[in-house]
Amino acid sequence: MALRCASLFINKEFAASSSFLFQFRNLNMTSVRQTHFLRNSPNAALSKTLLDRYRTLETPKNLVQATYLWIDGTGENIRLKDRVLNKVPKSVEDLPNWQYDGSSTYQASGENSDTTLIPRAIYRDPFKPGQNDIIVMCDTYTSEGKPTPSNKRATCQAAIEKVIDQEPWFGIEQEYTLLDIEGRPFGWPESGFPAPQGPYYCAVGADRVYARDLVEAHATACLYAGIDFAGTNAEVMPAQWEYQVGPSIGLKAGDDLWVSRYILQRIAEEYGIVVTFDPKPMDGPWNGAGAHHNFSTKAMRADGGMKVIEEAIKKLSKQQERHIRAYDPKEGKDNERRLVGRLETSSIDKFSWGIANRGTSVRIPRGVASAGKGYFEDRRPSSNCDPYAVCNALVRTCLLNE
Ligand SMILES: [Mg+2]
Repeated sequence: MALRCASLFINKEFAASSSFLFQFRNLNMTSVRQTHFLRNSPNAALSKTLLDRYRTLETPKNLVQATYLWIDGTGENIRLKDRVLNKVPKSVEDLPNWQYDGSSTYQASGENSDTTLIPRAIYRDPFKPGQNDIIVMCDTYTSEGKPTPSNKRATCQAAIEKVIDQEPWFGIEQEYTLLDIEGRPFGWPESGFPAPQGPYYCAVGADRVYARDLVEAHATACLYAGIDFAGTNAEVMPAQWEYQVGPSIGLKAGDDLWVSRYILQRIAEEYGIVVTFDPKPMDGPWNGAGAHHNFSTKAMRADGGMKVIEEAIKKLSKQQERHIRAYDPKEGKDNERRLVGRLETSSIDKFSWGIANRGTSVRIPRGVASAGKGYFEDRRPSSNCDPYAVCNALVRTCLLNE
């Protein structure tokens, strides 16, 4: 239905313009022609009520189901497996480490594949029936006990421990795009494009926003889990959304972001919708997706904090390359497609900052400038960034002077 509504919106001239047809580059043309919305999504076709029959079965009270989450060798995808524990853990110290086959997650060779999960943070599980069932955010170690190359949490933790008395906090704005099972933005017309950007940001109405149910289910599930979930909004490109986590002190923002991404993808799986964190899912005049990181310390939040913020920005201006490398999992390659100096982004090559300016690398919000204290927003991190890598770079440049 949403699809038909969207096709009513189509601007024929816009769609026919050959300069926009290359946007189909990433799409399988055969499947685009044959797309019938979610008909081809196996998960959407499954009954959503059958599971309830088993949810109500009584299980032993002392047992806990735990879902261990980790980041695989791509640095951007989540893996998980479940186990049953025979007591309710009070903290991560009560949880066992666990091994997995790292050769199947791009993290080890087949001859030496045992890779270790170390539990780091516990969340309530919105998907399992038991009150004590949990999600466990883990980081990953090689058989020699070293962090795997995709484990950015370990170095982030080391950096944050050195500055924890400065109470560094992070607030992260996660943008993402919904796709149908064939990889086309969810709700877009079968051929051609929706009308140009303008009416969709923070919009309401069946012809402007798609899958709000999913967005609201995600918000509630994140609050249940114990994530510092802060809000949601529809984004500039149709089928694109944003949510925010934080502000949270130290590593919690990164942990929260990864677990909230998992919860989002889990719920989307039930709906038969695909979530992509790709920073530029559609070429052409469509906004990309970022993960703006808002950052501050106790000194920045205190009277006279503006001076401390400006000092931090000065240090950032000298480390553009380091930050661009840390701000997407392909060390800048993903952000090359997004940071083009247009569509509310800065140039990837040049550091810039400004007050209330969304075309800069770093923005100081108007309210912060007026108050003379607060925080700044680093707008460069890509939507598929690893927040541990971003927080690590911010702390090391701004606070540790590395
Ligand atoms: Mg946004």
